[in-house]
Amino acid sequence: MKLEAARLLTYRAARLEQAGQPSGVAATTAKCLTSEWAVESADFGIQVLGGYGYAEEFDMQRYWRDARLYRIGPISNEMARNYVGESLGLPRSF
Ligand SMILES: Cc1cc2nc3c(=O)[nH]c(=O)nc-3n(C[C@H](O)[C@H](O)[C@H](O)COP(=O)(O)OP(=O)(O)OC[C@H]3O[C@@H](n4cnc5c(N)ncnc54)[C@H](O)[C@@H]3O)c2cc1C
Repeated sequence: MKLEAARLLTYRAARLEQAGQPSGVAATTAKCLTSEWAVESADFGIQVLGGYGYAEEFDMQRYWRDARLYRIGPISNEMARNYVGESLGLPRSF
């Protein structure tokens, strides 16, 4: 369900961009939620595989680390939330 939701958010942002409409909030929302769902999914994958999920000999721990990066870059999800919050009329928090 999260994979499908992530796709829909991403396609929505791409469609707005392609149509020449403002896409920043949609793209930031997609980046923020998709990165968090990717980490959750990889974390669940580690849990499913148990010790093998954590072991360096297997790929699942790397999937978690690779996904974890996108909560920090290219912008952190805290800054993403600041940006989306501002678009809703909330005061700038930094
Ligand atoms: C792979 C990668 C690609 C990147 N690509 C780009 C890029 O293309 N362009 C670019 O400009 N930068 C890029 N960055 C930099 C990225 O934007 C910063 O790493 C990120 O904003 C966190 O800043 P920092 O690392 O200096 O940590 P800090 O600023 O020290 O932040 C540490 C923590 O505090 C939080 N934080 C900081 N300030 C606030 C605030 N005002 N409100 C709430 N929380 C806050 C951060 O979210 C983070 O969790 C990239 C980083 C990585 C790792």
